[in-house]
Amino acid sequence: MLKTDIQEMQADDLGCPGTCDSPADCQGTALCPVNLARPVATTPVPPMADEEDEPQSKHFTSTRNACKLCTPLGACLAFRGVEGCIPFLHGSQGCSTYMRRYLISHFREPIDIASSNFHEDSAIFGGSKNFSQGALNITRQYQPQLIGVATTCLTETIGEDMACLLHDLRKNHGDAAAPIVHVSTASYRGTHIDGFHSAVRELVAQLAVAGEKSSHVALFPGMVSTADLRHLKEILADFNLPLTLLPDYSDTMDGATWSEYEKLQSGGTTVASIRALGSAQATIEFGRTLENTKTGGTVLQTKFGIPRQLLGLPMGIRESDAFFSALAGIAGVETPVKYQRERGRLVDSLIDGHKYAFEKRAIVFGEEDLVIGLTALLCEIGVTPVLCASGGRSKQLEKCLRTAVPDLSEETLVKEGFDFAEIAEAAPESKPDFLIGSSKGYSIARRLKVPLIRVGFPIHDRIGGQRVLHLGYRGAQELYDRIVNALLEVKQETSSVGYAYL
Ligand code: SF4
Repeated sequence: MLKTDIQEMQADDLGCPGTCDSPADCQGTALCPVNLARPVATTPVPPMADEEDEPQSKHFTSTRNACKLCTPLGACLAFRGVEGCIPFLHGSQGCSTYMRRYLISHFREPIDIASSNFHEDSAIFGGSKNFSQGALNITRQYQPQLIGVATTCLTETIGEDMACLLHDLRKNHGDAAAPIVHVSTASYRGTHIDGFHSAVRELVAQLAVAGEKSSHVALFPGMVSTADLRHLKEILADFNLPLTLLPDYSDTMDGATWSEYEKLQSGGTTVASIRALGSAQATIEFGRTLENTKTGGTVLQTKFGIPRQLLGLPMGIRESDAFFSALAGIAGVETPVKYQRERGRLVDSLIDGHKYAFEKRAIVFGEEDLVIGLTALLCEIGVTPVLCASGGRSKQLEKCLRTAVPDLSEETLVKEGFDFAEIAEAAPESKPDFLIGSSKGYSIARRLKVPLIRVGFPIHDRIGGQRVLHLGYRGAQELYDRIVNALLEVKQETSSVGYAYL
């Protein structure tokens, strides 16, 4: 495969899979954030008569290096958190290549994402034939328990009637294709987090059935790391609460070595336990910005009357306290001593490291609920978040942030719908001591000569990005140690003496 300079730049800076031989060959649509972000040579459009005197800055720019990822990518990850489920993208082949590259680079695990492989004729006449052929091929090759279908920008733009396609598939081929859950994921309407939550909602809406009440707790954690998922399972087990964690990609995306190649890695939430969600005793859902969104938790609430608690991501002390107290309330027991001691050690370490972290300034970026959780933690350890930026557009970020972190300075800039170019423009004036977010912020940190604390998704330039623990007192402890040590390293490296004791 030839690699042009533009491809190198896409692959390194913008996250494009770089599979095209030239920019003109890109199989994504013009709506792809990768396309929007890159410099493609185009014939300049002459300004309209009434635009001629307007300054260039008034002209619409969609985004430059988006601080978000593509919507079906989140759905594909959620589907891989279900046992025996294969993601199937109805759309262009380039889209699935891009998503696979992103997920593989972060999780360092193979992931198959099937595609219905649109071509020019399907874009014009519809992809019904591709869709049914694809579903039958996938069933034959993978023998999945479930196919998770997500749509791409192209299929959404042409208005593909998915309900009709699914109906035709069953009418013409009966049960020859594996069971299907479908989610609509137009990337121009949301972010990877929206795609993730939508896929979880559809899994619940299309699979869960009513049943006799059980003691199970349904936990919808959102897009967290595999280490977070394992930690959540440990916590619920310590409360003696039977758990249905949806999704659970802690094994499928971070498993052990195989003795034989597994086409679909083992692990994940079983389809049977998703069906049984209708009989859960309670739901906990993470994501303060989901307040006005239809989610897996709201489906269980409205369809089966299951009480739902919507919490922030349990990051830092206060948000973790809220989570542990919710579990204690459901289980009717005190928080186990193990976690009380973890909390105590965390508080003790905040005192130890206070002199290093106090009054440092940070730029926080990433998906909205992660930004809220990180900001809560930073304020607790004495760091001033100077800019909190996200590519999401929930219209909830500032309100939720100020509710979760009442002591957040009025001067902190909170920005929704921001891209990396805007963060880079705002960064010098913010005078940060460090940045905290995904590895996509590296070039900004490098220009500012400040450390980047890598958290969230994606982390492409370090090993172990999938194993970063963010949640609970233990996660806060790990993040705190990393933040303070990064600051100490700067202090040491920039000192003319190079103190060995700090
Ligand atoms: S779904 Fe849309 S945003 Fe995602 S890769 Fe395809 S064209 Fe790009």
